[in-house]
Amino acid sequence: MTKKRTSRFKGAERRGIISPATVALSGVICGAVLALAGLALTDGGTFDMPRASGYDERLEPTPPVLESRANRFLTAEAAPLESPIEVALAPTGKAGNDDDILGPVLPGDGPAQDPEEVEADPDSALVKAVAVAKGDTLAKLLARAGTDSRDAHQAITALSEVFDPRRLRIGQEIRLEFSPLGEGAEGELRLSRVSLMDSVEHEVSATRRDDAFTPEENHLELERSLVRSDGVINSSLFLAARDAGLPPEIVIEMIRIFSFDVDFQREVQPGDRFSVYYESFRNDAGETVKYGNILLAGMTLSGEQLTFYRFTPDDDGVTDYFTATGQSVKKTLMRTPIDGARLSSGFGKRRHPILGYTKMHRGVDFAAPSGTPIMAAGDGVVEFAGRHGGYGNYVRIRHNGTYKTAYAHMRRFGKGVRAGTRVRQGQIIGYVGTTGRSTGPHLHYEVLKGDHQVNPLAIKLPTGRKLSGSMLARFAKERDSLETRFAAAPVVNRQASAD
Ligand SMILES: [Zn+2]
Repeated sequence: MTKKRTSRFKGAERRGIISPATVALSGVICGAVLALAGLALTDGGTFDMPRASGYDERLEPTPPVLESRANRFLTAEAAPLESPIEVALAPTGKAGNDDDILGPVLPGDGPAQDPEEVEADPDSALVKAVAVAKGDTLAKLLARAGTDSRDAHQAITALSEVFDPRRLRIGQEIRLEFSPLGEGAEGELRLSRVSLMDSVEHEVSATRRDDAFTPEENHLELERSLVRSDGVINSSLFLAARDAGLPPEIVIEMIRIFSFDVDFQREVQPGDRFSVYYESFRNDAGETVKYGNILLAGMTLSGEQLTFYRFTPDDDGVTDYFTATGQSVKKTLMRTPIDGARLSSGFGKRRHPILGYTKMHRGVDFAAPSGTPIMAAGDGVVEFAGRHGGYGNYVRIRHNGTYKTAYAHMRRFGKGVRAGTRVRQGQIIGYVGTTGRSTGPHLHYEVLKGDHQVNPLAIKLPTGRKLSGSMLARFAKERDSLETRFAAAPVVNRQASAD
């Protein structure tokens, strides 16, 4: 896993990715090209082009299957992980329904009941699991559950010492316990405890002690394990990784790591491979409740191996991913300045139009569904954000004295993106659209050196940190240990690639 890729651009050429023959397969054609070439757009959405330009004028429809799958997967990312309390208290799967209140927990209520739910006075205790509804506050929720308002106030005050009530999430389970209290007040149940999981590893509660509520917090130990997953890419890294059973957040992180080096629209070919080694955390019940960091990520692109290792140099404490020789993955500019997970397939039957850099087309295109986030390729200052002729909605960023980047055909701009705004690498500056002279949703991306567009695939960019001396020695040790563990780890893939 240590062989270095030498020249990606050369590799791309060898693979024919940017050869005229491949460019001829392109379909989404940039307005920018037309403007430059002075070509005419005909009624059928096709172009009249001189043969020499090598562009195909056919506009291919967006591949619907591929994208809906990708979108669904992305959506899943936003879904919260199952928390143990939901699993324990909402066996009917009705989480999110605010009437989802379980009945009294009584001894002998059946094997389904977790004995831990029965507290000190099991004969008469009542436990309710209430789900947070839209617009709920803790006070509203407690009132709805029939809590005395004074008790509720006291409990919330206590709970607020260990929990920020603004962190309440819709659907979150709040566990309420009621016990008989007061002398002789037979059968009268009063609130005795409020508890909830603030995160998968942090339980907060307020418990009645005499006549007051006491806050408590409990940090749960999660068991960390490392998972290795490998796969062959048949249509896109995103789909291959998903088919290998990789959690969405890990796939997205992996794509982010490679975005500095890999042009996901042009450089990934059928048969390329990926491997990833990442952290996974389980709770007491053995359920995977969260994922951690990627420790090692590799891609084999047309036989060339690219591997990155997570490492934190202890001199500056900045965690980063490094090549085997200790070179930071970070570059001044990203090669894929767009949510790479949502790129349309770049090859195969679903070949999506791709234009590489030519004299006629002075940028590269990324075909992705309308609305796909576009990122600033590097830190800089927005020089222009607005309508710009055939470019449609267009943003240009000045990164330093040498380089600028430009982004065209956006549907809309990112929040607060206007001339003079300072942006960070990776910040969302707009969304894919097809404004201006464009025949389908795509990002037209240009790198400018001075005022001239240059080939983004060919430029040699200044890179980030290069480890040396004792730091390099420390890194090499960690890298080797990681490699050894990775090589010995079983490959955990939920299923083989089905594409
Ligand atoms: Zn273009």
